[in-house]
Amino acid sequence: MQKAIISGISGQDGAYLARLLLSKNYKVYGLIRSHLGEGLWRLKFLGISDAVELLECDLTDLSQIFRIMQSIQPDEVYHLAAHSSVSSSFEQPISTIHYNTISTLYLLETIRLLKTSLKFYQASSSEMFGEVKKLPIDENTVINPQSPYAISKATGYWMVRNYRQAYNLFATSGILFNHESALRQNTFVIKKIIRTALDIREGKAEKLSLGNIDVRRDFGYAPSYVKAMWLIMQQEVPDDFIICSGFSSSIREIVERVFAKLEIPLSCLATEQTLFRPAEISENYGNPEKAKRVLNWSYDWSLQQLIEQLITDEKEVREFLKLHS
Ligand code: NDP
Repeated sequence: MQKAIISGISGQDGAYLARLLLSKNYKVYGLIRSHLGEGLWRLKFLGISDAVELLECDLTDLSQIFRIMQSIQPDEVYHLAAHSSVSSSFEQPISTIHYNTISTLYLLETIRLLKTSLKFYQASSSEMFGEVKKLPIDENTVINPQSPYAISKATGYWMVRNYRQAYNLFATSGILFNHESALRQNTFVIKKIIRTALDIREGKAEKLSLGNIDVRRDFGYAPSYVKAMWLIMQQEVPDDFIICSGFSSSIREIVERVFAKLEIPLSCLATEQTLFRPAEISENYGNPEKAKRVLNWSYDWSLQQLIEQLITDEKEVREFLKLHS
């Protein structure tokens, strides 16, 4: 039986990845901050909380990582834990950069010191490319981070490349563009749009307040993207891959579609200057050609299909949380 460790198992991707690996008969260990963590509902929602083994581990403590890696001896390590919000990284630049870089470095250093042949996956982000001169973004696009979060992810990406080249580790990066689901943290924009729209429908909210709604991003569906993570780890040669839908949509367009689907008037949308970010990328979208060609990974959801799925999933999550809160 293959053994996998997932850091950040209580997050959106960690939960979906755990479900995928269990379906492939892996023994799954999840690293968590605490057994009291609020995010553990995601594992319950997916019906896998009893199937995974959760271990408390502070990823800024090298000795804890060392002990866990030595005792489990995993075949694969997926490092997903991170301060994952661009917006809040402007409020918490030090903890974001510290946690996101040190955790990656300690994991890589542990693997190097233990001389194990395990495979390592780093959750890299399209944010590290910043505002680009030419779209679509591919694996050769210049890195130009524009937020503390992006700087931390760019650093992690370069550390992975360095450990791969210098020490011959099987260390990889999936460079993922935005991917959404009902398991997303509430503060992320698509989740916020759909939650608030449902609240407006149910008479619990009057308006949806957003920052810059003209930014365009490449959005996909999270369960499809975690498949790409696993495929990246099944390659014989470690490499980095862009994972994306290949097209961009504006936040405005998404609000319009969600409101139309739920029959909410656009007058319920308000934009607020205070919600604008200090630095904003106007548009990004990626080119998934390499992932298609090498990994045989493909993604063919339209924006409308994604939105309808997210609304359906959000309703299910709301029912679940109502019953379990
Ligand atoms: P989430 O925010 O849903 O999950 C983040 C996870 O990291 C949670 O398990 C959280 O634990 C853990 N974590 C955060 N801060 C700390 C900390 N200080 N100490 C210990 N654990 C911590 O993120 P996603 O699942 O969406 O993303 C997974 C990874 O992929 C992240 O690294 C993210 O940056 C990256 N990524 C995500 C993209 C996306 O669109 N979703 C796009 C590109 C990259 P807890 O539950 O205790 O808070």
